[in-house]
This record gives sequence, structure tokens and C-alpha cells, in this order.
Amino acid sequence: MGKVLIIGAGGVGTVVAHKTAALPEVFTDIMLASRTKSKCDAIAKKIGGNRIKTAQVDADNVPQLVALIRSFKPDLVVNVALPYQDLTIMDACLETETSYLDTANYEPKDEAKFEYKWQWAYQDRFRDAGITGILGCGFDPGVTSIFTAYAAKHYFDEIHYLDIVDCNAGDHGKAFATNFNPEINIREVTQKGKYWENGKWVETEPHEIHKPLNYPEIGPKESYLIYHEELESLVKNFPTLKRARFWMTFGQEYLTHLRVIQNIGMASIDPIMYEGKEIVPIQFLKAVLPNPGDLGENYKGQTSIGCRIRGIKDGKEKTYYIYNNCSHEVAYAETGTQAVSYTTGVPAMIGAMMYLKELWKKPGVFNVEEFDPDPFMEALNQHGLPWHELHDVDLEL
Ligand code: NDP
Repeated sequence: MGKVLIIGAGGVGTVVAHKTAALPEVFTDIMLASRTKSKCDAIAKKIGGNRIKTAQVDADNVPQLVALIRSFKPDLVVNVALPYQDLTIMDACLETETSYLDTANYEPKDEAKFEYKWQWAYQDRFRDAGITGILGCGFDPGVTSIFTAYAAKHYFDEIHYLDIVDCNAGDHGKAFATNFNPEINIREVTQKGKYWENGKWVETEPHEIHKPLNYPEIGPKESYLIYHEELESLVKNFPTLKRARFWMTFGQEYLTHLRVIQNIGMASIDPIMYEGKEIVPIQFLKAVLPNPGDLGENYKGQTSIGCRIRGIKDGKEKTYYIYNNCSHEVAYAETGTQAVSYTTGVPAMIGAMMYLKELWKKPGVFNVEEFDPDPFMEALNQHGLPWHELHDVDLEL
């Protein structure tokens, strides 16, 4: 059916490679390209069957990307490198008239700030080139936005209150590790909290608001209000929302380590001189922390991510909770990665499949909630991320 170029051979790239390789009727040709080709080769070898071609590419370099895209001629580029590369990859897609999908919104390297304005600015150019840009197609953003669109389509006349709840109840046995790229992860969780209420953003101190929430099959976990990128597009695309918040669980041990890391300056993105060489503290920290891609082997327990929604149906108030639980051990057995990479990589593969099947194909740049959620929801059940729904329950929020 189509050719896909995957950029980024980390934890998420590993899952996208496994899942696309397992569907030869959809993904006829697959190339995995990254900064370090040996990582692509190792993933391709593990998958076997000559399913995956590999290449070296510096995704910060538009001419290199253009040359690679021109030689492989993919129908779609799946960007699972880092958010820093979003714009260069989008530029290369424009130049080669190739469609684009990613899982995280653009973030400048020298400023710990993420927002959609940079990528939304490509809307007219993508539309005029006749190519599709699918933004934020991981789990959160990604499935959480599709869950919201599904709820709005099928169960509500208006959605008023949205709480996205993200619990990782897994234990990897390490004193401190991040579940995806440490640099991106630490930048995300150390920033100020922010939520949408009555038409404006309300800012909080980092981790200021928290409460225990009950997660299915897991039980109560302390959950912290943080800002997360899908809130920006969801409040725009669902203007009936009176309030939208995002909650994530953290263990005390994790938060203590994080505080120390911040206090001693290791989370800083400002370059410093070390032995005559300029280094960025958080990048150095990444080099000494466990590689998220290697956490899988001893990871026990599960993640539970979902949306708790309150709104109106037929004039009456309705509550709805939709979620997926994913086991770290099951994810590892299938792809050799833990559940955080798995829950991101599977939706990226499904988004790519939606594009190739022409179910999600329109010129321009779109967040995932702007497409029909139904075929995607069906595919989640078929490809390893089954979801469950509860109607008219106490949402605790
Ligand atoms: P990793 O750090 O494990 O992998 C990133 C990969 O990108 C590495 O292989 C790295 O190469 C490669 N890379 C980095 N810079 C370049 C470059 N300039 N050129 C080419 N390749 C490059 O990250 P993850 O796999 O954990 O995360 C991947 C993406 O998924 C991130 O953008 C992250 O924010 C996003 N994500 C989204 C989630 C969601 O639910 N939406 C959840 C989790 C992650 P090298 O190996 O040489 O370092």
C-alpha cells in the first residue's frame, strides 16, 4: 500500500519499526533513518526478514533530509526523533511534497518551551503543496486527543470538563530514570503547571496542585497537575470546554531526585564550559542516566492513561471515562521496549496506516482530533492498545 520513512531510532522508533514491519500489506517498504546508523541496523536485524532498510541522517540538516527523501521516495515521513527536529523535517517534507506525522510538538533547543504556533504556521504551505501534516500522534498527545474526539462525537452534545489522567504505575528497579528522552522529559515536568478555565490559561507553580486519583486495576496514585501540549489544541478544537487539565502520577522518589537535579543545576539548558569544552548540563545528565530504551527488561506493572469527561447529552449532565492500560512486560515481550515507548509507537504506526489507507488524508496541518476518530479507535483494539469505557461514574475531579 505505501512506503514509510521513520526518522529516529530510539525507544519510540523501535516500536514504530516493529509494528510497521508486522503489517506488510499496509507498509510495503520501510526505511529507518537516524543520527546513529548502527542503532537502526540493530533494530532492523532484530526484526529480521529484510523488512527494514536503514540510513544515516542528521535531521537538523534540511538538505540531508531532502536527499534521503528524494532517494527513498516515501509516501509519509514518521518523525520520532526529538521535538527539536520537527521544523527541519517539515521543511524537507515541503520541499519534496511528502506528507508528515509526529508525536511531539516543536520545542526550540535553547528555550524550554513547547507550543504549536511554529507548526501551525505551516498550514497554508502544506495545504498549497497538497500534503498532510498529522501532529501529535503518540499517546498523549495522540490517543488522549482521539479519545476526546470520540467522546464528543458519540456521547456528548457538549463537552465541558476534560481531565486527562496519565498514570505510570510501573517499577523499573532504578533509583531514577525517565521513561522517554530524559532531556525532553525533564524539561516537560519541571516547568510551571497550567490549565484552561473559563476561556483563559491559569498558571501554577510546578507540582503545586495534586491529589490522589484511582486508576483502574492500579488503585490510588498521587497525581500532579502539569501542563501538557494537547491541551493547547483541544481547547481550540473543542470550544465548549470550560476547563481542561492534565494530571500525571509521580512517585516521591522521582520527585526528590528531580528536585535535587534542579537545585544543583543539572536540569539547566544553558551551556557551560567544562574542561575547555562547551556542554549543556541536561544533555550531560542524559548521557549518565539509564537509556529509556533499556528500561524494559525489568519493568513490571502497567500504565493507565485516559480521559475523564463531563458534559451535556440531551439536556442532562453525563460523565464518561475512557482509558487504556498497558503492561510494561507485555510491551517488552512484543517489541523489547517498555510501555511508554510502546504506547507512543503504536499510535504513530496507526496514524501512518490511517494516512496510507486515505482515511486521514487532507491537505494542511492538523492535530489528530481533527480527523475521524472511529477507524483509529478500532485499530487501537486490534494493534495492542485496547481501550475501555465507563459511563456515568464518579470522575473524582
Ligand atoms: P530517544 O531519545 O530514545 O530517541 C530519539 C532518537 O532520535 C534517537 O535515536 C536519536 O539518535 C534520534 N535523533 C536525535 N537527534 C537527531 C538528529 N538530529 N538527527 C537524526 N536523529 C536524531 O527518544 P524517544 O524514542 O523516547 O522519543 C521519541 C519522540 O517521541 C520524542 O519526540 C518524544 O518527545 C516523543 N514522545 C511522545 C510521546 C507521546 O505520547 N506523544 C511520549 C513519549 C515520547 P541517537 O540515537 O543518535 O541519539
